[in-house]
Amino acid sequence: MNFNYFMPTRIIAGENCIENNSEVISKMGKKAIIVTGKTSAKINGSLADVEKVLKNNKQEYVIFDKVMSNPTIDCVYEGAALSKESNADFVIAIGGGSPMDSAKAIALLSSQDISREKLFSGEYESKILPMVFIPTTAGTGSEVTQYSVLTNDAAQTKTAIASPLIFPNIAFLDSKYMKSLNKTTTINTAIDALSHLIEGYLSVKANGISNALALEGIEIISSLFDNLKKFNLSDKDRSKLLYASTLGGIVIAQTGTTAVHSMGYSLTYFKNIDHGRANGLLMGEFLKFVEKEKTELINTMISKMKMNSLDEFENTLCDLLGEKEKVTNEEIEKYASIAIKSKNITNSIVIPEQNNLIEIYCKAFEV
Ligand code: NAP
Ligand code: ZN
Repeated sequence: MNFNYFMPTRIIAGENCIENNSEVISKMGKKAIIVTGKTSAKINGSLADVEKVLKNNKQEYVIFDKVMSNPTIDCVYEGAALSKESNADFVIAIGGGSPMDSAKAIALLSSQDISREKLFSGEYESKILPMVFIPTTAGTGSEVTQYSVLTNDAAQTKTAIASPLIFPNIAFLDSKYMKSLNKTTTINTAIDALSHLIEGYLSVKANGISNALALEGIEIISSLFDNLKKFNLSDKDRSKLLYASTLGGIVIAQTGTTAVHSMGYSLTYFKNIDHGRANGLLMGEFLKFVEKEKTELINTMISKMKMNSLDEFENTLCDLLGEKEKVTNEEIEKYASIAIKSKNITNSIVIPEQNNLIEIYCKAFEV
C-alpha cells in the first residue's frame, strides 16, 4: 500500500443547503466577489439565494458575471482586477465549470501578482482568498478539485492551473438549481462526470479509495442512461447526478485526467465542441485501446454498468450524443500532435503514443 489521498474541501449537500448553513458563509469574510456566468445563475435561483444569505449576514458583495464558456486568461485577470479594486476578501463561485474554474484563478490572482507567463507554472506563494463553490451543472466536479482549466491560446489548447492552493474551502451541493438545464447540457455534463470517473479508474495514480469512489459514481451515472436519453429526470435523479459528478471531482483530484481529456481539448479549442461531449465522442475508442492490455479493469467497469461489452457502452454513448461532427485527417494529425504534449497523457494506465492517438481519433470519427 503506497498512496497519498488529499481532499480538503468541506462538502455540504441537500435542498436549501446554502440558506440552512448561512453561518458557514458568514465566517468566510467581510466582502465577497461573486464569480458567475452571464445569465443562468440569475434564472435558476442560485444567485438570489446567495444574495439573500449575504444580506442577512450583513456581508458586502460585488458581482463579476462576465465568465464565458471555456474561460480565457483575459477573463480571469479582469475578474481579479475587480476583486482587488473592490477589496473582496473571499470568493463565491456560482455556475458550471467555467465560472468555478475562473473563480479559482481569480482567488489566486487577487492575493498575489502572477504574470501571464507564470500563470500555469505552479510557482505561487501560499496566499489565496477563501472560496465557496456552488455548482449549477452536474459535470466538472470543479467544486472539489485543485484544477482551473483555461483556454490557452499560446498553446492552442486548454491548460490547467494545478495547485493544492486552489482547492475550494466549501462546496454547497443543491441540485434544485439544475432543473433549468436543457437536455444537451445535462447530457454533456453527465458524460464529463462519467469521463472523470472512468479516466480516474484507469489512471496510474488511482488508489483503493479513488477506485471505490469511481466505481460508485460509474454505477450511478450508468443507471441513469435511459432517463438521460429520454430527458426524463426526477429531482432524485438530478441529485444523484450531482453526487456522482462531485465523486468524479474527488477522484480526479487524486488521479488527474488521462488521454481522453488531452484529446478532447483540441475538439473544444478548434471545433467548439462542448467539453463533456468531446470526451464522450472519444471515450469508447480509448477504452478499446486500453482493453487490449487491461481487460480485467475494463470488464469490472462494464459489469458495474450492467452491460455486456464495450460495444454496448459505445452504442449507448452514440445514442446519447447523436450525430458526430466531421473531422478531417489533417485536423486529426494536428490534434494528436498537440495532445501528445499534454501532461495528462502520462496518467493513462496504458500510455498511448502519437500514432495511437491518431488511430483513436480516426476510429471515433469514422475517418
Ligand atoms: P459551463 O461552460 O460552465 O456552462 C455551460 C452552459 O450552461 C453556460 O451557457 C451556462 O450559462 C449554462 N448553465 C450553467 N448552469 C446552468 C443551469 N443550472 N441552468 C441552465 N443553464 C446553466 O459548462 P460546464 O460543462 O459545467 O464546464 C465546462 C468547463 O469546465 C470547461 O472549461 C472545462 O474545461 C472545465 N472543467 C474543469 C474541471 C476541473 O476539475 N476544474 C473538470 C472538468 C471540466 P451561464 O454562462 O449563463 O452561466
Ligand atoms: Zn472534464
